[in-house]
Amino acid sequence: MSGHKISVSGLSIECHEAPDADCRKRPNCEPEEWDTAGCRDHSGEHKLTTGHDCWLSEWVNGSGLEDSYYDFDKYPITPTPNAPVELINEHPDAVLWKYEEIPNA
Ligand SMILES: [Zn+2]
Ligand SMILES: [Zn+2]
Repeated sequence: MSGHKISVSGLSIECHEAPDADCRKRPNCEPEEWDTAGCRDHSGEHKLTTGHDCWLSEWVNGSGLEDSYYDFDKYPITPTPNAPVELINEHPDAVLWKYEEIPNA
């Protein structure tokens, strides 16, 4: 189950992951770039810490939902409020989103 969903307004993505989820880990020095070993700005001197704002949804919201949809030709004109979504990290260029596939009950 994804911890990410479309907001009530339908204009952005919200994160409901736990503070120790990967999308809420980053170094405290607020670097431009980091990886699992730590910040790249300072050669990994600062390790990842938990409880930050979600960088995945931040990235999508920064580009806008339309520009971040995984299949541009099929963009849903009106994103469904509260729908669970999957965020796809297309490193290093982009984070894309799509609706979470819910298995048939
Ligand atoms: Zn650093
Ligand atoms: Zn998140």
